[in-house]
Amino acid sequence: MSDVDFIKSHLGSHPDFPKKGIVFLDIFPLLRNPVAFETLITHFIHRLTSHTIPNSPTKKIDVIVGLDARGFLLGPLIALRLGAAFVPVRKRGKLPGQVVSAEYQKEYGTDIFEMQADAIQPGQTVVVVDDLIATGGSAKAAGELIAKQGGMTLEYLFIIELLFLKGGEKLDAPLYSIVQSD
Ligand code: 5GP
Repeated sequence: MSDVDFIKSHLGSHPDFPKKGIVFLDIFPLLRNPVAFETLITHFIHRLTSHTIPNSPTKKIDVIVGLDARGFLLGPLIALRLGAAFVPVRKRGKLPGQVVSAEYQKEYGTDIFEMQADAIQPGQTVVVVDDLIATGGSAKAAGELIAKQGGMTLEYLFIIELLFLKGGEKLDAPLYSIVQSD
């Protein structure tokens, strides 16, 4: 079995969660299996170290940005293996000190993402990580926070991409997903 099929076989699926008509894709079964979790992180590391990322002159990644909340379960592991910094993007009001903010569209209304204002230095190269991209609104807001601080986003990484929502079209850098769902 390929590592992609192995990862895919450990994803859960919950019809009618969090409400009727939505099929929620669940990454937690993957994290419960240490071999599957290891395969996932190694897959991301191979992607970041053995592929040419189009925007990157050097391939060196300075910062991994993880999105609230499941991006926090993946980002630090990837950052440590690369010797990069880890920086969280959190929902409004959770981070101390000065922050930069960006608004994003939710199903009903808007929400605000924040990052600590000194988290990224101008010119640093950044990769954004989350479990899943749907509309791409939250990843786009993270890209705006990185750009506001002068960072350069090289790539957006996800375990799962919901293809029909075309979230990648909103982003300012290439998207890489391991599993694509219609
Ligand atoms: P977007 O901003 O791209 O519309 O939504 C992506 C965000 O919603 C991600 O942070 C992701 O964790 C969450 N999300 C939306 N649908 C699902 C789902 O089916 N499964 C999981 N695990 N996360 C989801």
